[in-house]
Amino acid sequence: MTVIRGATTIPEDTPMEIKKAVKELLEQIESRNGLKRDEIVSLVFSSTSDIHSYYPAKAAREAGFESCSLFSAQEPDIDGGLPLCIRAMLFVGKNLDPKHVYLRGARILRKDLAGKINIAIDGPAGSGKSTVAKMLAHDYGILYLDTGAMYRACALKVLSEGADVEDEARIVDIMKDVKLDVVFEDGMQKTLLDGTDVSEEIRKPHVSMAASAVSKHPSVRMHMTEKQREIASRMSCVLDGRDIGTFVLPEADFKFYLTASPRVRARRRYDELVAKGYQVDFEELLADIVRRDEQDSTRALAPLKKADDAVEIDTSDMSVEEVLAAVKKIIQENL
Ligand code: C5P
Repeated sequence: MTVIRGATTIPEDTPMEIKKAVKELLEQIESRNGLKRDEIVSLVFSSTSDIHSYYPAKAAREAGFESCSLFSAQEPDIDGGLPLCIRAMLFVGKNLDPKHVYLRGARILRKDLAGKINIAIDGPAGSGKSTVAKMLAHDYGILYLDTGAMYRACALKVLSEGADVEDEARIVDIMKDVKLDVVFEDGMQKTLLDGTDVSEEIRKPHVSMAASAVSKHPSVRMHMTEKQREIASRMSCVLDGRDIGTFVLPEADFKFYLTASPRVRARRRYDELVAKGYQVDFEELLADIVRRDEQDSTRALAPLKKADDAVEIDTSDMSVEEVLAAVKKIIQENL
């Protein structure tokens, strides 16, 4: 007897999607394991509690899996669990080396079987990319890498040395002696500068402007890019930045480019900073954002730009939840 596992996701809870997904999953399990249909003794399904419209077992029967016993059950509603997911367990009447099959969004569940996944989310300041990237990484249980934090940390160091953000040679010199680390705790990034946690300090508005200035220097960019590529080559992660899809990881599995009007973006940053207790002037913040956009999108190396194959989402009139759902839908449909 052999037990084979499988899982898949559906884009929406409709009988048609359930039938399509179950058929695809079972056919993939059969073909990858070289199974004949009558070798399947029993098929057990579970589906997440957001699936109501059809029994996966019934879908399996209709797909021609009739000679085995079939059973479906509903899973408890687990906070943060992968939504709209159907899991299957096949009991096969012979011994074989099982090839488990994870399709669509469920690939995320078994990174060991499905391979590494890199998701790039680019866009200008305040487009919502870091919030969405964080939530996505959390929901999928993979790493979130905030590449902007690396440029911010570099800028903070340059400022604290009293150096000129335009002086590339000096910045390279400073960065040679500095230890910039990104560490991960519970999947979240902490930015350490010479061992000190600067995660909060690098969020201050003057650091944002300085980050934009230092990030235009090619030698600074190459230094950061190498670090980012090294991390992404080792593990599944969501990276947010300006040049991930175009320059850092042109081969990323998924690329998104988030935008929003400058006013909306400035409003988001304003609310964020005020909530943290900073005193900021809205018009000044708006002017900073516009200047930063200009600086980021006109630099020579790896400017802020949508990759040709990135999916663009204008988040101006969308809630974070809506953006997250749109991103997940695209990932799950295309895995
Ligand atoms: O995303 P965040 O606002 O934290 O980024 C700060 C600055 O770092 C940006 O304005 C940009 O100039 C720079 N940056 C970059 N490339 C990235 C991420 C950030 O040039 N991948």
